Amino acid sequence: MVAEVEAMYAETRGLTGLPAMSPQVRAALGKVERHRLVPDAQRALAYRNHPLPIGQGQTISQPYIVALSTDLIAPQPHHTVLEIGAGSGYQAAVLAEIVQRVYSIEILQSLGVAAAIALKELQYENIEIRIGDGYKGWPEKAPFDGIVVTAAAPQVPEALLAQLKLGGRMVIPVGAAGRAQELLLIVKTAAGKIEQKSILPVRFVPLVPLVPLVPGR
Ligand code: SAH
Repeated sequence: MVAEVEAMYAETRGLTGLPAMSPQVRAALGKVERHRLVPDAQRALAYRNHPLPIGQGQTISQPYIVALSTDLIAPQPHHTVLEIGAGSGYQAAVLAEIVQRVYSIEILQSLGVAAAIALKELQYENIEIRIGDGYKGWPEKAPFDGIVVTAAAPQVPEALLAQLKLGGRMVIPVGAAGRAQELLLIVKTAAGKIEQKSILPVRFVPLVPLVPLVPGR
């Protein structure tokens, strides 16, 4: 799997500007036991570079996307990172191999609870999962060195920008529901200015909106 992900980095370097996977992300990808974070029926496919269904209409992200998102936030051992959309817990585990502390929010209770149990069995002591709405972030634990959003939003949520440290980086897929999405890298400069760069076209499940976009009748 690591070799496939490396090959994809090479194919997409013109878009991403990243020549290769960083050694720390490569090590993390090689270490996380992805087969223990997918449903039993998917275990045989766990080490392919593919997204897989995890129930509730949700997916565990493709390893390439997890690696790329992790590299884009430039994680350091002393960092605290927020993830929105814990899902299987895979992205959280990859982050937890590198940074000091990972907070992850999941809106679907069954997925969040299953991920928390699996990550505990894998002995990740530095991950905390909360059931809730990721649009609001996790103000009690803010500010964060990095934020990784793993479901697509129509626009960048203001609360998440506010919870990013000066110099912090956020990766988020942005695009209207059912439309093409772009993976964005957002940097809050030391002066507090928000800079944004489009990295590549992606396809994520949508972030469940805080307020319904089309009001019911
Ligand atoms: N990071 C996950 C990928 C999960 S897919 C992994 O590595 O496996 C996206 C996840 O975002 C889904 O589990 C979905 O339930 C969750 N989600 C959707 N809307 C959300 C919201 N508003 N707040 C928190 N989580 C949300």
